[in-house]
Amino acid sequence: MATFRRALTHLAASEGPSSSVSDESLFPSSLLQHLTELGALTAPLPVEDGGLGLCSHPYGLMEMLRLTGCLSLSMGRCLEGHVNVLRLVALYGAHPQRTLLASAVKRGTLAGIWVTDGNTPVTITPTNTGYRLTGKKGFSSAVHEVGLALITARTAQDQTIMALVPTNDPVRITAGPGKLTGMTASGTGAYDFTGLVIHPENIVGQSGDYLRQPEFSAGAWRGSAVALGGMDRLTDLMLTELRNRKRDDNLHQQVRIGNALILRETASMWVCRAARAVCSTHLSPGDIAAIVNLARIAVEQAALELIPLVQRGLGLSAFVRGQAVEQVMRDLATYLRQPAPDETLTEAAHWFTDHPWPEDET
Ligand SMILES: Cc1cc2nc3c(=O)[nH]c(=O)nc-3n(C[C@H](O)[C@H](O)[C@H](O)COP(=O)(O)OP(=O)(O)OC[C@H]3O[C@@H](n4cnc5c(N)ncnc54)[C@H](O)[C@@H]3O)c2cc1C
Repeated sequence: MATFRRALTHLAASEGPSSSVSDESLFPSSLLQHLTELGALTAPLPVEDGGLGLCSHPYGLMEMLRLTGCLSLSMGRCLEGHVNVLRLVALYGAHPQRTLLASAVKRGTLAGIWVTDGNTPVTITPTNTGYRLTGKKGFSSAVHEVGLALITARTAQDQTIMALVPTNDPVRITAGPGKLTGMTASGTGAYDFTGLVIHPENIVGQSGDYLRQPEFSAGAWRGSAVALGGMDRLTDLMLTELRNRKRDDNLHQQVRIGNALILRETASMWVCRAARAVCSTHLSPGDIAAIVNLARIAVEQAALELIPLVQRGLGLSAFVRGQAVEQVMRDLATYLRQPAPDETLTEAAHWFTDHPWPEDET
């Protein structure tokens, strides 16, 4: 684990952060290749499936996702999705599914979690021998690179079930719902599952498992760790540019630097708090879900405050296309659009209205 961590830190130091970007819409294939060679795809597999069991070492996992988010938020999004699939299959999958996924990942397959529906939601209908899928997943990250996707599908009884399906038919790939202003390197498109026949072996867990708590909410801490990496990058870029322009000693800029560091560290403390909560042995599922929900919103708020601070500190140069700082801000603002933020905050508030705040485990 320590060697893996050192190698990833070395990669982060050698790959970035740079101050300018090339074609921002290109998928970061060489970064994916480096991460694959370092074992980032296999490390989150359980030890018994041949991985490092990184999902049970939240600080190690946090470091991996944070460093990746710092290098590229788009790559961070894809790696976080991959980890999510490994985690859900480890929790709910049958032994043959775990074996199949582990051997695919060891061969370098990137997995994706595609739950957001397109205009036609994905539904599943039983046939004589298996199931038929209909509909599209509308926001599918790394749609050209993912080889196995864990998708959700609705049954006629309006239940949600998960299926692990191969996704390497290029004919099924279409453009996503419009051109995003940020995260364009994430290769996010749509995948049409209409007419695909799958087998009972493709179904993961029982209906309702995907929405089961605390995992459904708790998994979001990993996305926050990636966003924190984006905040690291933005803070570094701000400091570097202020130093290069010899504006860093100015009192007003010092106030902004101090506030940026406070925001970054606030986000970091919340992500650590969430990471401790998900591996806690004494917290109730409700406590875990609510702490992670608060962490998600705290990181979102901190990042949303950091962006105008950087714009104010750097001025127009933060709006010049082709500058890394401009792209990271657009990527971060887009990345932060995660599902149902209002509900996330109010659900957590509601929980802690009725339950005492739990003591932290150190
Ligand atoms: C680059 C990128 C890659 C992505 N990759 C994937 C992927 O690989 N797989 C995948 O499944 N998804 C993916 N997504 C989709 C992502 O996970 C979220 O589903 C999406 O970003 C949700 O954003 P939203 O702001 O539209 O959320 P919403 O949940 O629609 O929230 C928008 C606003 O509406 C409010 N709101 C929500 N529900 C209601 C309601 N019922 N009534 C009133 N107000 C409501 C919210 O609180 C918020 O204020 C990706 C998204 C991006 C940007």
